[in-house]
Amino acid sequence: MRVIVTLACTECGDRNYTTTKNKKTHPGRLELKKYCPRLNKVTLHRETR
Ligand SMILES: [Zn+2]
Repeated sequence: MRVIVTLACTECGDRNYTTTKNKKTHPGRLELKKYCPRLNKVTLHRETR
């Protein structure tokens, strides 16, 4: 049930992370606070396709 998703920075658009999620627990877009190396700070990262 776990799928690989890509997380993109919502501020600069860089795709900085890949992770896995469980579709049952996260049926919608996954959003996580992550460090963005381009902006040198923590930003919200959102699942992309
Ligand atoms: Zn960024």
